[in-house]
Amino acid sequence: MIRFFNTLSGSLEEFRPLREGEVRLYTCGPTVYDYPHIGNYRAYLFEDLLKRFLIFYGYKVIHVMNLTDVDDKTIKGARSLGISLQDYTAKYIEAFFEDSKVLRLLPADIYPRATEHIPDMVRMVKGLLEKGFAYYKEGSVYFSIEKFPAYGRLAKINLKELKAGARVDSDEYEKESAHDFALWKKAKEGEPYWETELGPGRPGWHIECSAMSTRYLGPTIDIHCGGIDNIFPHHENEIAQSEAYYGQKFVNYWLHCHHLVVDGEKMSKSRGNFYTLRDLLERGTDPVDLRFFLLSTHYRKMLNFTFDNLEQARASRQRILDFVYELEHRTFAAGSDPDVRRLADRTLAEFKDSLADDLNISAGLAALFEFIREINSRLARDQIKQEDAILVLQTLSDLDRVLAILPEIKEEDLPAEILEKIELRQKARKEKNFALADAIREELRQLGLILEDTKEGVRWKKIK
Ligand code: AMP
Ligand code: ZN
Repeated sequence: MIRFFNTLSGSLEEFRPLREGEVRLYTCGPTVYDYPHIGNYRAYLFEDLLKRFLIFYGYKVIHVMNLTDVDDKTIKGARSLGISLQDYTAKYIEAFFEDSKVLRLLPADIYPRATEHIPDMVRMVKGLLEKGFAYYKEGSVYFSIEKFPAYGRLAKINLKELKAGARVDSDEYEKESAHDFALWKKAKEGEPYWETELGPGRPGWHIECSAMSTRYLGPTIDIHCGGIDNIFPHHENEIAQSEAYYGQKFVNYWLHCHHLVVDGEKMSKSRGNFYTLRDLLERGTDPVDLRFFLLSTHYRKMLNFTFDNLEQARASRQRILDFVYELEHRTFAAGSDPDVRRLADRTLAEFKDSLADDLNISAGLAALFEFIREINSRLARDQIKQEDAILVLQTLSDLDRVLAILPEIKEEDLPAEILEKIELRQKARKEKNFALADAIREELRQLGLILEDTKEGVRWKKIK
């Protein structure tokens, strides 16, 4: 059983997806007005851990991550350079994909862009006007929060204390100023706008996610994620718009990660206390060490960024890498020890159970390090045999489907005859000739290559 802490109920709940074996996941993506900072990547890495774990557990995950390419910030950026919104955001979209790759984030199935879904948003806003949840004021359309009695439930704010009828135009604001918010903003001099049935204008930020989530995942989804700063107003407003429009529950499980902080303050562009991934790469940081650092603290705990903390994570990952290196490069006597099999099974089970408990990564990593300790002490006594070494490497590679912190073998590093065999095996699998596929796998294993089939394709691990 998997349990997650659901922000909506404020408690741990058993996770049951709407469709058996399948999870529909929406994660709020970057606002592409600048290079993301590593605080943003904490959110994306938590989502990556969640997604990889769900796949590891056996679910098929359908993942949508939006790109906010029109909002107050992108418009301001494009204006300051005197270029089009599209030219302005293109650079940051590309940078985001590059960063995601080096941080080993599994790609989403779809990355919808807000500017390509304006008709979906217009349809929703029109519907909200017709149903009486929204109203026009001076060419803009606002959502009337008093018409939606459940407003404030996610962020736990009391609607009675709010001044109904007052309006906010900006996309981001504090809980204290929860007012009617803009769904559609009237065109302003010098700003990009769309000519639509609602009149010339552009969408508010919140309606973007409601429309794009529904477009690809349907009106009710399993999991929606973001950082805790997204809870209010963004996600509160998404719920209001979607549920008012569709008359059904928008999201079953809301998962939010805590912030990456610097000296106790949220890392953010506006505070100026941030590093981008590029800043760290220039200082010589290995992006996979950063990945490990951002992953290894439980997602609902605040994570303090210091170079010392990053160094600790690096050293701790290095222990895993050294261990792998040792197993790959030492020569072992033939044979196996049933105790190693038992340890490997226990480690996998503990890792899985820990992550199933609201992604308890600390307990998961503790199981991994305990395994390393046990095997190391056997290595010191020369008690590890050839089959054991292979099993240990295979176990680490299994766990690495979730962690993604081990070195990856690049295709170009493999000799041509091995690549040929891999291809032959792929062909055999496609033709459902599993006997042949297994025989090739065994042949490759004899040659020192472990193959593993994952949803993302085949992964390899070299052994001596
Ligand atoms: P934005 O591009 O500002 O919409 O943010 C993208 C994602 O990063 C959202 O899910 C935010 O909640 C998240 N985020 C922003 N700052 C931080 C931070 N310091 N720590 C963790 N997550 C953050
Ligand atoms: Zn969003």
